Amino acid sequence: MLLIKNGRILDPASKTDAPRDILLDGECIAEIATPGKIAHADSWQTFDATGLIVAPGFIDIHAHLREPGQENSETIETGSHAAARGGFTAICCMPNTRPVNDNASITRFIMDRAKAFGHVRVWPIGAASVGSKGEDISEIAAMRDAGIVAVSDDGKPIANAKLARQIMDYCRSLDVPVIEHAEDVSLAAGAVMREGIASTRLGLPGMPAAAESVCVARDVQVAELTGARLHIAHLSAKSSLAQVRFAKQNGLRVTCEVTPHHFTLIDEDVTYDSRYKMNPPLASREDREALLEGLADGTVDAIATDHAPHEPAIKDVEFDKAPFGILGFETAIGLALEQLVHPGRISLMRMVELFTTGPAGVLGKDRKVAVGEPADVTIFSLDRLWTYHVKDSASKSRNSPFDGRAFKGGTVATIVAGKIVYQN
Ligand SMILES: [Zn+2]
Repeated sequence: MLLIKNGRILDPASKTDAPRDILLDGECIAEIATPGKIAHADSWQTFDATGLIVAPGFIDIHAHLREPGQENSETIETGSHAAARGGFTAICCMPNTRPVNDNASITRFIMDRAKAFGHVRVWPIGAASVGSKGEDISEIAAMRDAGIVAVSDDGKPIANAKLARQIMDYCRSLDVPVIEHAEDVSLAAGAVMREGIASTRLGLPGMPAAAESVCVARDVQVAELTGARLHIAHLSAKSSLAQVRFAKQNGLRVTCEVTPHHFTLIDEDVTYDSRYKMNPPLASREDREALLEGLADGTVDAIATDHAPHEPAIKDVEFDKAPFGILGFETAIGLALEQLVHPGRISLMRMVELFTTGPAGVLGKDRKVAVGEPADVTIFSLDRLWTYHVKDSASKSRNSPFDGRAFKGGTVATIVAGKIVYQN
């Protein structure tokens, strides 16, 4: 039993924003009451949450844990440890491991490793096509039975509209969401950043915003054709957001996520430092403004980190030779507070929604603070000052452009299945 007392509960599902004590009994929430009203409070292990926000467990629907196959960059153990430090109680790992998670035996391997070594819950995402090669549909039903929560060929888009149709048709019958890394590979070919004045100044090949939105448009239309649940990963362009907004207005089951780095940084921030290289690349100032608007008005469903560790040996090279991707778990709450809540762009309740009910809804799950619900809780502060030092990260990799950044507010404790898995 664990008693969290005197915290300010923020629960988007019930729209609760009030002081409450919560009693966790192993896997489940046993009791919720006004402060001081839970009986036998002295007999339980107690966490004093005075002055802190107590929220349902945060979910990250987009992460790369690199196991199996690239354990020099990350493992399920180190990645989920970093996730716990970032306040996440559940993380979804993309299938672009080596081998690719395109069949039930790999899914089971990941689930078993997560159970043995995971600091938080790990929900695998299966490949949409065999080997994510874009030719044949993968064993989606068998992977679903083994534990996947969605499919994606992340790292690249589903290769063509015909295959997207087959996958969405099949996933509609299984009620599995299809997560798309939206990129027109012909428009993006050879590019290492966003096309624009910044890319011209740096002399680096750029891709236009349309490299993303052309693919989003294709997929929205295939989603309409099939009735499938389509989720656009790491949406970065204003033109893509317009497609998602249009799809929602027309009743399609289309959702999207935005990363902290895309709502924080823009192409003008890019230097020759490969820690600014990710895919989709940092976008224009106008795109960022549109993302901030979409985060505020409800068009964006979730904040997802796209945590993408790469060991220094492969990432600390010339910009055009480095792989795409940056770390994300440990800076997500700090950046969301800094960019969204503290400047008054969104409410605290909306921020919590973007990390809880939002991503849960994408996966067809619930997330709430209620008796009988899983005892997964994220506790964070709004005002504690701290600095992110990537050398102290739990991740095996060090590729963050936010190293040395000072934050106001961040994770204080992460609780999974009634156990404190991280406390600061
Ligand atoms: Zn991607």
